[in-house]
Amino acid sequence: MSLEALKSSVSGLVIAREEGPYAAAREALIWNARKPPRYPHVIVGATSAADVQAAVRYARQHGLKVTARGGGHHWSGVALQDGVVIDLSGLDAVTIDPAARIADVGPGVSHRDLARALAGHGLAFPVGHCATVPLSGYLLGGGLGWNSGAWGIACFSVESVDVVTAEGELLRASEAQNADIFWAARGAGPAFFGVVTSYRLRLHRLPRAITTSTWTYRLEDIGTLERWISSSQPVLPRNVEFSLLMSSAPPTLAHRCAKVVTAMVTVFADSVDEARIVLGSVAASAPPGALDASLNVPTPFEALFEMNGAAFPHNRRYAADTYWSTANAGIFLETLAARVKDAPSPASIALGVLLPPPEPGAPGLPDAAFSMVAPVFGCSYAVWEDAEDDELNVSWLRETSERLAPITLGHYIGEAHLDDDAHIPRSFSPAAWARLERARATYDPEGLFSKTF
Ligand SMILES: Cc1cc2nc3c(=O)[nH]c(=O)nc-3n(C[C@H](O)[C@H](O)[C@H](O)COP(=O)(O)OP(=O)(O)OC[C@H]3O[C@@H](n4cnc5c(N)ncnc54)[C@H](O)[C@@H]3O)c2cc1C
Repeated sequence: MSLEALKSSVSGLVIAREEGPYAAAREALIWNARKPPRYPHVIVGATSAADVQAAVRYARQHGLKVTARGGGHHWSGVALQDGVVIDLSGLDAVTIDPAARIADVGPGVSHRDLARALAGHGLAFPVGHCATVPLSGYLLGGGLGWNSGAWGIACFSVESVDVVTAEGELLRASEAQNADIFWAARGAGPAFFGVVTSYRLRLHRLPRAITTSTWTYRLEDIGTLERWISSSQPVLPRNVEFSLLMSSAPPTLAHRCAKVVTAMVTVFADSVDEARIVLGSVAASAPPGALDASLNVPTPFEALFEMNGAAFPHNRRYAADTYWSTANAGIFLETLAARVKDAPSPASIALGVLLPPPEPGAPGLPDAAFSMVAPVFGCSYAVWEDAEDDELNVSWLRETSERLAPITLGHYIGEAHLDDDAHIPRSFSPAAWARLERARATYDPEGLFSKTF
């Protein structure tokens, strides 16, 4: 198939490297202002599964690799590759069956658009923490979304996926059909060996009174806050999300200290009374010394997106990494806090979360590629503005990961620093990684979807 034939068979825009709009189209593929130095041969804007199939066939005929691009939000810019990049942002349909509590969604649908569409039916899904990220790579990597204590990791609310294979075939995968592909589609992330063109989601009831309290302390108080979160988490209901964000002090507190840690507690409650009781119990155990607090604020999804999005402005340069740890939470959080204190960029931040303990008698994680979890989770984000500071800030991130390495069991593939490709196998249990490698060899023997990191 010639480029011209590809252009006439695909309904979206197809842009080859030598064409005028190429530079801007390539730039726009990646959300991070720090773009990897890779140059697609052709960018295919897909608006249907048939477009994806045509692009895969074109790539095969021309001996090119294929990469799916959801929203280009992976911090490592892995959706920008040489070969054929298929932009799925135009696959953004949402079809909801409220009675069956099922939705069929295109990979280009953003968290905000899904949350809004579902709210109209009194329904919800464990969408991620920021509005503009699409479901595409989020669900494929697992999806650490809102209310995961109650709703679980997002990919475990996926019923089936439609996938274009390395052969260019379109098939459906679920527990009942093409189970190996379904196993991989729930967690493989960038290591997946196909293109997901649609997700069928199992929906949850929308909590009617999502409410948040926050407390801000000096960063030096991290030890006290660790004791607070560690003693609270086991007794709080599962519909409570409790996280610690370490950052520079906001302008209103900057005269009191340089760095702060903010405890953010959100309850996905069904009533105002439930929210007040739960957040009241958290407030009763809050350590003294808060510099600022904001209690019982109604935070529907839109407000949660606003709060979290503020930490991640567009047009900044980013490098991020994630850590699952079985270590003592105190040591883990103290290490993260020390790194935030020493960050070369004041915009760099870190997040610490403790998972609620497993419910007595509950089965473990379903069997899927998503297999790396531990009781303590953290992320570090280097955030800066100028390209000339890349080395300084990426080194800070790398050193943060090295300091945590002795107490890191593994990484979360959706936000791991994939510039270091050793992070990929370490984002899975050893058994899951071995199975994923076997599945890749079976379904993509020529490495059509293999990537450069
Ligand atoms: C501001 C911000 C906030 C975030 N918050 C969260 C959060 O709360 N929870 C969380 O879990 N993650 C979060 N993330 C991480 C994010 O979910 C993942 O990086 C995810 O991959 C982004 O999806 P994407 O479609 O933009 O991926 P892309 O960057 O487009 O792609 C990432 C990788 O997945 C592959 N891929 C993507 N879509 C498909 C597809 N349909 N079929 C086959 N392969 C595909 C690509 O080829 C690439 O290798 C956040 C990221 C940002 C930038």
